[in-house]
Amino acid sequence: MPFMSTRGAEKISAPEAIVRGIAPDGGLYAPLSLPNLSREDFIEFAKMDYPARAARTLALLLDGFTEAELLEMARAAYARFDDPQVAPVKELKAHRHVLELFHGPTMAFKDMALQMLPWLMTASARKQGEMREIAILTATSGDTGKAALEGFQDVPGTSVTVFYPLGGVSAVQEKQMVTSQGKNVHVTAVRGNFDDAQTGVKTLFADPEFIAKMNAQGKTLSSANSINLGRLAPQVAYYLSACADLLAKGAINWEDGLNVCVPTGNFGNILAAWYAKRMGAPIAKLICASNKNDVLADFIRTGIYDRRRDFHKTISPSMDILISSNLERFLLELCQGDCKQVAGWMKQLSAEGKYDIGAERLASLQKIFYGGFADDERTAQTIQKAWQDEKYLLDPHTAVAACVADDYRRDTGDEKPMLIVSTASPYKFASDVADALNVTVEGDAFAAASILENYTGVKAPDQVAKLKDLPVLHSRICDKEKMGEAVLAGFND
Ligand SMILES: *Cc1c(COP(=O)(O)O)cnc(C)c1O
Repeated sequence: MPFMSTRGAEKISAPEAIVRGIAPDGGLYAPLSLPNLSREDFIEFAKMDYPARAARTLALLLDGFTEAELLEMARAAYARFDDPQVAPVKELKAHRHVLELFHGPTMAFKDMALQMLPWLMTASARKQGEMREIAILTATSGDTGKAALEGFQDVPGTSVTVFYPLGGVSAVQEKQMVTSQGKNVHVTAVRGNFDDAQTGVKTLFADPEFIAKMNAQGKTLSSANSINLGRLAPQVAYYLSACADLLAKGAINWEDGLNVCVPTGNFGNILAAWYAKRMGAPIAKLICASNKNDVLADFIRTGIYDRRRDFHKTISPSMDILISSNLERFLLELCQGDCKQVAGWMKQLSAEGKYDIGAERLASLQKIFYGGFADDERTAQTIQKAWQDEKYLLDPHTAVAACVADDYRRDTGDEKPMLIVSTASPYKFASDVADALNVTVEGDAFAAASILENYTGVKAPDQVAKLKDLPVLHSRICDKEKMGEAVLAGFND
């Protein structure tokens, strides 16, 4: 079987890994080997539309699915994107390109995976003879929650419940969630912060009594968070797709390739870029961009992962993370599949708050990755500069990447073409983008979006205007100790 836990040698199939989410030993499921693509494969890719590229990628990565069934899923998953190319690459000056991953229903890159995951998950469950309803429970600090609600909305055989911290998400994010439609979706604010909500969900996953009661209702629990293999695999597709497009255009050549800069939080997106590189994509350096929560930049510089530091709230909130879970999958490769070593480091991380990979492994890591960070001030300056110089509107997350990409070129003199990965529409964070451009906004985020649209002439996604007038369908608030009861009672809202 082609997948193993990062912390143990047990091997399982892709459908099993997708249904389970996390391994019983606490590890993440990682591929034992990766396919190898040739230049001809990329020429072939360039001739296909995005769903076909995604289906081909998934067929290469996941056992247990045929390309034909994956294509059917991908056609459904990417039908609601507002760009016919799904993940288009736009050209900036100085051999820089932007891979736009925000054309899905929630205006952030999580849609690229979370529109696909429900199809993969229900098909996986069927293949394993699972007849129960799959109940997705998730805690969110913003983007994941809405993307999961959109992805699982009215998918037969599933339900989705999202808990968010009361007062702890942005106005647009809250409005997106509480207006969610679908017979199988539940949204509840929790009195507490994000950690309370997340701990509450984790506690339910580990509570035998709660699980037994859910089973008695004909339901089995699963999670949609970013460590699920079914979220990682669809992300590899857009890197192969972007390389195919740039090769076909002659913007990059096969021998030299390009560098890729990714605004990073949980390390899922950039890990997918690494898998694409391992599969033969002409990617040279992987540039990991952090905001002021610069734990990864320090790790790539020193080989010491140390989460014992202050947590900063920034204008790129989806990257406000101190424990980057998906890094574990890269560590497994860094120590050639030595899962005992990985398990040791992860134990140290939870007991002592840090681990050290040593000089030799650091040298291997630095051959692949460059790490850097941008604080809010440099992020805002980057938004302003991109608008002034190139009339390209960056969201704050993408701006972190654009800033670090420039730092990398200045530091190293490496002028290879650069692919900057764009993870959100500027209109999802309109107030901060307007601030960065020194545009005065009086009023809420919706007012900011319309002022920004008038000021720049860059069209806002249709969702923004629609969202403002949608009726609130979910107004339940629960105490953090009562989350399980709320799920079992079926909400009745
Ligand atoms: C989730 C998210 C990120 C971080 O991605 P990871 O895969 O967690 O590294 C960056 N930008 C936006 C807008 C996001 O929603």
